[in-house]
Amino acid sequence: MANFYPEHLIEEIKQANDIVEVLGEFLQLKKRGANYLALCPFHNEKTPSFSVSPSKQIYHCFGCGKGGNVYTFLMEHENLSFVEAVQYLAKRAGIQLPKKEIAPEERSRYEHLYFANQVARNFFIKQLWETEDGKKVLKYLKEARGLSEDTINHFELGFAPDAWDKLLNHARTLKLSEEDLVKAGLVVEREDGSGHYDRFRRRLIFPILNFTGKPIAFGGRALSREDKAKYINSPETDLYNKSKVLYGLNFSRPHIRKLEYAILVEGYMDLLALWQGGFQNVVASSGTAFTSDHARLISRYAPTAIMLFDSDDAGIMAAKRCAPHLMAAELDFKVVLLPEGEDPDSYLRNNGSEKLREMIENALSFPEFIYNTLGPSFEKLSSREKENVLMELVNVAAQSDSSIRRELFLKESAAIFDIDLNSLKNELARLMQKGRGPAREEVKQTAPAALQRIQLQILAVLIENMNLLEKALLELSEDDFSDPVIKGIYNKMLLLRSKNPSMDVSYLLNHISDPEQSKIISQASNMELGTRDTERLFSDFARRLKALNLEGRRKTLISRIASAEKAGDLRRAEELTAELKELTEKSSAEEEA
Ligand SMILES: [Zn+2]
Repeated sequence: MANFYPEHLIEEIKQANDIVEVLGEFLQLKKRGANYLALCPFHNEKTPSFSVSPSKQIYHCFGCGKGGNVYTFLMEHENLSFVEAVQYLAKRAGIQLPKKEIAPEERSRYEHLYFANQVARNFFIKQLWETEDGKKVLKYLKEARGLSEDTINHFELGFAPDAWDKLLNHARTLKLSEEDLVKAGLVVEREDGSGHYDRFRRRLIFPILNFTGKPIAFGGRALSREDKAKYINSPETDLYNKSKVLYGLNFSRPHIRKLEYAILVEGYMDLLALWQGGFQNVVASSGTAFTSDHARLISRYAPTAIMLFDSDDAGIMAAKRCAPHLMAAELDFKVVLLPEGEDPDSYLRNNGSEKLREMIENALSFPEFIYNTLGPSFEKLSSREKENVLMELVNVAAQSDSSIRRELFLKESAAIFDIDLNSLKNELARLMQKGRGPAREEVKQTAPAALQRIQLQILAVLIENMNLLEKALLELSEDDFSDPVIKGIYNKMLLLRSKNPSMDVSYLLNHISDPEQSKIISQASNMELGTRDTERLFSDFARRLKALNLEGRRKTLISRIASAEKAGDLRRAEELTAELKELTEKSSAEEEA
């Protein structure tokens, strides 16, 4: 796995990239004791169980068990191959790598899809800047929408020409297969099966980039009113999971973290306008339905989200749709209510950044927002209408797992709508009883049997003090490990140690390609051992493991004797009894030793 670049270089690059700093670019890490904690990016959770150890330079999630070092993280989180992860971190640390052609088997599983997307992105960009039709679009972007060339370049905007096969033909000249283009969502199969056609035609193209800057999908915005769909997006592919991606987040996450809040807009254009206007902590839900996954994505970087939508009914509806999800992710959230007829882009152009900043600073709480967007005043509504309005708020409150948050939210609602808090609380209780309230996500954890646990503990001690491997060679045999994964790790450790006596856990992880094994290693290396006397601990554990193994064998023998007797095979029963006797003597002899 690690032999593409020289070993020492891989180590050097790893050491130049502190795991806390690298993961900190993707996660909101909080210091807890000697370690850092974050919400796990690999499973849904509200209480952080993802731990990063600066001293060991590894991470581990106590919820889902994922773990590893900086390389593993990038491979898992960004779908990179090992070689690509090395290249990414080398670049990050300013370390020169020897120039090498990457062999096909070193490319990531999705390399062909990335390649297809890169070809498409470059094609769209060229179409925008170098064709007659493209230049018209460019002119529109600059003059009508006020975008600078910097912004257009930064977001790598492109243009899909008004043709059925321009991208397809271009891709063919680069030997891209139609199969890959279909898998990347760039072309669509004709209904009569006679071939394919370009998905994006006569559209402004917004590449959707992952955190390492590679295009994983595209958003296409209509350029004329004749086009029925305002937005066309790439379909979900192996690279693109709509619920896990927010447009612009690859650029805005450091700003979101720094300012401790995210501005949530709907459209690509809104995002670009805000970015250019100096609001760089912005993300857009463009072209996809906003989900709790999106809200959780924001919550990884900041505790607060501010919704900035159009002032029309559609914008108000959008805010109402987002609110329960933001609450479910335990985000604080507010809404900017723009003056009638304005959208974020137009407001910014008409009023300037300072005015918008004021609007954002004075954003409304969600109950205030609801109160202010009611057509007639709340007092003039019928009882039924009032009930609907209030139940909407109760439903939002119900999404939080925190009873304090729910109460605070209802308290504010009660004050704004001048209604008794208790009646809201009663409705909340009723709603939550019906089970429409928060559904807690529980991570299944099967309790490891004693035998499983002791093997893991031995591994933990060996990882903590690798010098004990010599002792293990004398006191244990590989057959003592009944768990195939742990046995595999144990053998690997012995092998690696013979090559590199100063091996540490991060080095070990670099040489593990089986994800099951790296998971167990990170789990073991995060176990509390409770003492520094690892040598004594190892001996205790080794003795217990042997005792448990003996006990297991004894139980098997006893049940086999019973079935032999039942079957009337007395000779067999006698043989087995002799075996049992021998085993029992052996175990008591060992106990005395
Ligand atoms: Zn996890």
